Amino acid sequence: MSKHSYPLFVAIDGPAGSGKSSVSRAAARRLGYGYLDTGAAYRALAWHVLARDIDAQDAVAVAGALESFDYSIGTDPDAYFVRVGETDVTDAIREPQISAVVSAIARVPAVRTHLTELFRSIARNVPQPGVVVEGRDITTVVAPEAQARILLTASEEARMARRSAEISTQSAHTVAEQLRSRDRADSQVVEFMSAADGVTTVDSTHLDFDQTIDAVVEVINTARNSHD
Ligand code: C5P
Repeated sequence: MSKHSYPLFVAIDGPAGSGKSSVSRAAARRLGYGYLDTGAAYRALAWHVLARDIDAQDAVAVAGALESFDYSIGTDPDAYFVRVGETDVTDAIREPQISAVVSAIARVPAVRTHLTELFRSIARNVPQPGVVVEGRDITTVVAPEAQARILLTASEEARMARRSAEISTQSAHTVAEQLRSRDRADSQVVEFMSAADGVTTVDSTHLDFDQTIDAVVEVINTARNSHD
């Protein structure tokens, strides 16, 4: 099989509030690539678990919920949606009650194995010549062989400020506390606060949105040229 039979794989990891999702989507749009938000699958499974009255802390029951988890996501950066069965959950999965339980869902090994396979298969099948896949373990577990691998970081202060500007229903203090506790829980399961070997760090603390996209696209273009 030729090396161009699969889309070029861009892996982007980073903590909550690093701007990962919006920057990844904008970079994909600029390059004419597909975009895959992997956090959405963990969130959608959390939604499914809560909708079925399953205890999110019960790892066996959560793993069992995978059997009835009928998930779909839009990979066109201009037509993003998340569905579970027939239900559109694009907005519902951003609610604080989902963020509060998603780390418990994400630490179940059977969940990670199942979703990792799903991500690889979705990424291979996008119609575009490349795909930007963002999450926490993309550069290390989902696609360590990706042609471009980026860790998008920002100081804790910058991340808290950005996230609280996005969420108007809760105080800045509450948002910061929730973000910190989610990062703590998530970093026990996957390492996303420091770059693995061969991964390029883009620190967005002192960059605005457009400058961050420029920096990410530059890393991708450099990687792309070296693979041609
Ligand atoms: O990126 P986002 O904040 O939407 O991710 C939601 C949750 O999904 C994270 O807090 C983490 O628990 C989980 N996640 C993960 N691995 C990924 C992406 C997300 O464990 N690759």
